[in-house]
Amino acid sequence: MNQDALLKEIAKLRAEIERHNLLYYEFSNPEIEDYEYDQLAKHLAELEAELSGEAIADSPTQKVGSDLSPGAKTIQHKVRMASLDNAYSLEEVNAFITKTNLDTGKQNQYCAELKIDGFGINLFFDYGKLVYATTRGDGLEGEDVTANFLLLPDIPHEISYLEQIEIRGEIYIPLTDFLALNEQRRETEAKPFANPRNAAAGSIKLKDSTEVKNRHLRAIFYSLGYYDANSLPVTRQHQLLDYLKKLGFPTSTRDLCNTYEEVASFCNKMEQERYKLPYDIDGIVIKVNELELQKRLGYTGKSPKWAIAYKFKPEEKDTVVESVSFQVGRTGAVTPVANLFPVFISGSTVSRATLHNEDEIKRLDIRVGDTVRIVKSGEIIPKILAVDISKRTPTSVPISFPSACPVCNSLLERDEEGSINYCANAACPAQIRRKIEHFASRDAMDISGLGESLIARFIDEDIIHSIPDIYNLDYEHISTMERMGKKSADNLKQAIELSKAKNFDRSLFALGIRHVGSITARSLASAFGSIEALISADKEALLNVPDIGDIVAESIISFFNKEENIQLITYLKQAGLNFTYASDLLSDALSEKSFLITGTLAGYGRKEMESLISKHGGKILGSVSKQLNYLVVGENPGSKLDKATKLGTVIIVSEAEVLSMIQQGAKP
Ligand code: NAD
Repeated sequence: MNQDALLKEIAKLRAEIERHNLLYYEFSNPEIEDYEYDQLAKHLAELEAELSGEAIADSPTQKVGSDLSPGAKTIQHKVRMASLDNAYSLEEVNAFITKTNLDTGKQNQYCAELKIDGFGINLFFDYGKLVYATTRGDGLEGEDVTANFLLLPDIPHEISYLEQIEIRGEIYIPLTDFLALNEQRRETEAKPFANPRNAAAGSIKLKDSTEVKNRHLRAIFYSLGYYDANSLPVTRQHQLLDYLKKLGFPTSTRDLCNTYEEVASFCNKMEQERYKLPYDIDGIVIKVNELELQKRLGYTGKSPKWAIAYKFKPEEKDTVVESVSFQVGRTGAVTPVANLFPVFISGSTVSRATLHNEDEIKRLDIRVGDTVRIVKSGEIIPKILAVDISKRTPTSVPISFPSACPVCNSLLERDEEGSINYCANAACPAQIRRKIEHFASRDAMDISGLGESLIARFIDEDIIHSIPDIYNLDYEHISTMERMGKKSADNLKQAIELSKAKNFDRSLFALGIRHVGSITARSLASAFGSIEALISADKEALLNVPDIGDIVAESIISFFNKEENIQLITYLKQAGLNFTYASDLLSDALSEKSFLITGTLAGYGRKEMESLISKHGGKILGSVSKQLNYLVVGENPGSKLDKATKLGTVIIVSEAEVLSMIQQGAKP
């Protein structure tokens, strides 16, 4: 590949990975399985290795995905919180062990531990008292979740170790509680969580403490961040786990291994036994056992060099296709869905899997009655991998795609890209229903209580015919409806009122513009600032927004060209919905201050420090000038320091002073 093509491919992959990071870490709502994500990341790392000298510091391969919520209170980690490098085969684990032994010049011991599939947490203790609990955040600073963390049972808030220490672990929801929680959500028409990890991630940041308790969060601990080696009574990872247990922290199964064979045998054993555990694990973490050696080996941009995560492949099972139904979505797209003989896989029962479109039916060569191999992508979404042709019976029935809409009977049309069949009747009842469902859904206006079955009832009983009707409900009448009552009507009213305060990107996503998902909506909201600016944007302006290509731009233009959509927006604005953008700064601690960095900083990379300053409202300048307020000086500063000193107006500060400015200014 020539250099230009390589750079283009890298830029494309980086954008794609950043998009998945946002969906996974911030929205707790991934679109692809972890395995696919890891393959993308691996491919990107391989391409970046071919770059001759170009900066890769800003690449997702070099930094941990951030879970920070806009505007949240954050606290700096004393020692950064890293991710882990992945191995998807035992050969890769063997290669890691061989390399580490070579690098350290000896045959090391390794501590093999369960990789809890939860959400990373950092506890800071001082003089034996828990001071705060934070999420991993962006690895450098975490979100303060102390109040919610204190609600978790069985975690000590006071310990007998009195020096300052950061204790790290994973919060999770036990599987039985997770299943019950999802059942409860189905009953109250809230969208079920995709998996326990996403549920834990969403729960620890909730504002309502009663609801946090209802989530049954637990935690398991496995490592330290900051600690003083001289006062720590242990020197090995396996001893550390014992010590954490002694201090009162829950820990999990582990095995002390002397050879690769012992590590492999623990991995194989736990892969077999994983579904017997009360919580989800997604692999085994293999760590160099000596803590001193861990320190010496250090970190790459985002992961420790002394550990690797052996990730389990998703479980696969065979089942039978009992029938195929065709669903009409909000954009009119008709999606075939395979109804399967129920099968228990990766922690839950699966009875349906999407077949996406007509081409996928042909590609799989699938028939009703066929035996198929299924997998839960990322342990989340059921996916048909292949048909077992050897088990095909003479009674199997080929699937024929309907030529008319299964709901309103209009003739179906093929879309421009030619893979999807559409019902072009905008008045199709199925489309209207799905549009309303999408509008009220969690990632859009998040109107809790207004789920699929209530929407169906409201439509059947002539209460709602279109989205605007949501903001014009007769609550008195609703309170008299069977199975509703005053309390439910009041709750619904409150949820609908709350939706008016949602950010512009949510209102934009809720409109249901084809190809505009929640991330694209966010980019559009921040790029254009208001719905008026977006409506009047031409194709060129739309193409300037990251991630937006021809198809999305055309879809946006075509949406706003329709009079009924403009009327919908006018109505929603009158109803009080928000169609202007508010920025997502973490704080304004450094606002109206300008910064420049010189020399090597001790705790932060230059890019990281620049991004931290920007996130707290500071401006980064390109050179020393009269406009510059602060020069941040690290080791071996360059000529900028001389210039700034000569100028006399610039304040010289250290990295620590910037952090303290942020901390003081960011206090609520
Ligand atoms: P990770 O989940 O693969 O592993 C690192 C984390 O494991 C640590 O930060 C820690 O929180 C946790 N952990 C659990 N048990 C541990 C133990 N015993 N010792 C040490 N750590 C332990 O890494 P990540 O950075 O949290 O996430 C990256 C991964 O997330 C990717 O490799 C990918 O699999 C997944 N991901 C998926 C998508 C997607 O769209 N599907 C997007 C982004 C990330």
